[in-house]
Amino acid sequence: MSGHPQQVRIAIKTGMQETTVRTLPWPVLGRDEGMLRIEACGVGGAEPEVYRAGDKWLPVAMGHQIVGTVAAMGEEAAKLWNVGLGERVVIQEYLPCKVCNWCLQGEFRFCPQADFFGGANPRRYGLIDPTAAPHLVGGFAEYIHLPWNTVFHKIPQDLPAELATLAIPIGNGVQWVTRDVNAGPGKTVLIIGPGQQGLGAVLGARDAGAETIILAGMTRDAARLALAPELGADHVLDVEKEPLIDGLRRVLGSRGLDVVVDTTGDPGGKNMDQYLELANYGAWLWVNCMDRGVPVREIKRKFLTVRSGRGRSWWAVETALRIITSRKFPLEKMVTHRFGLDQVDTAIKATAGKEVEGAIHVVVDPWM
Ligand SMILES: [Zn+2]
Repeated sequence: MSGHPQQVRIAIKTGMQETTVRTLPWPVLGRDEGMLRIEACGVGGAEPEVYRAGDKWLPVAMGHQIVGTVAAMGEEAAKLWNVGLGERVVIQEYLPCKVCNWCLQGEFRFCPQADFFGGANPRRYGLIDPTAAPHLVGGFAEYIHLPWNTVFHKIPQDLPAELATLAIPIGNGVQWVTRDVNAGPGKTVLIIGPGQQGLGAVLGARDAGAETIILAGMTRDAARLALAPELGADHVLDVEKEPLIDGLRRVLGSRGLDVVVDTTGDPGGKNMDQYLELANYGAWLWVNCMDRGVPVREIKRKFLTVRSGRGRSWWAVETALRIITSRKFPLEKMVTHRFGLDQVDTAIKATAGKEVEGAIHVVVDPWM
């Protein structure tokens, strides 16, 4: 491929709740490396947490919901990768070893090299210090460096880039609700928290054939709850207007819950106290609250299976892309806001529900 820019713009987190746009040189590429021209990068649901952190993750090149076109690749990379120059791809944030048992199963999230809980500096885009070469290691940029172990997913030529950025959050929802806690035919499923991942879980449960899907949120989530029926939810509940357990009883009658996915932090386990009461024997729970003990007595009595979130597998992103490219759902309604590189601060704040109202999925377009 002839010709590439000499300089690349990238937004880097340089302070607590502060990003700065830097101009960096095009890197010298090894034979097993390449470059991706970024078309769009979504803002992740957990990104505001990285953005707020004071000393951990500083400086850091944020942005990991990356969609783009392969713009350069060395001759070894051409042999290693199942993609060619000019192909459009989603890349996952994990930069794994590709040879451990987890990697061989497509579970790059658990590779010791990419594991979030595996050490001080997990190798995953969105969390890498850009001080060291190749510097261009975050998705809020015009181009990103592709090392030999990049995880690619091919996407169709006609898929709008901003829809493709949903592959990661919808992939999370798909993973959590199906692979993690077994939503499927005949199941009654409760999802709490209508963020991009909670809505992704609604899509995943619908795609997997769940019988009844209930989505719960708060009054400030009104726009998200209103969209949910178009994505497959049968019922939506506002827990500020009606306690969760009352809403569930009203909707379910004498039935119970087979699957619960609580994407919220659930401080104090308030949600848990309510859905535990309506969980069926043998139900599967997906929980994220870390500030209360595991209710072993209830787990034993109701023979429950409990899991928590650890990213997503290769399969989940492929499934999300199948759902997205089916065009069966009006996913363009999830993409509510677009910002340029010099507005990354606003993009992250919007995702956190600050300064900008009504955001569901926010996209950074580096060419805007
Ligand atoms: Zn590995």
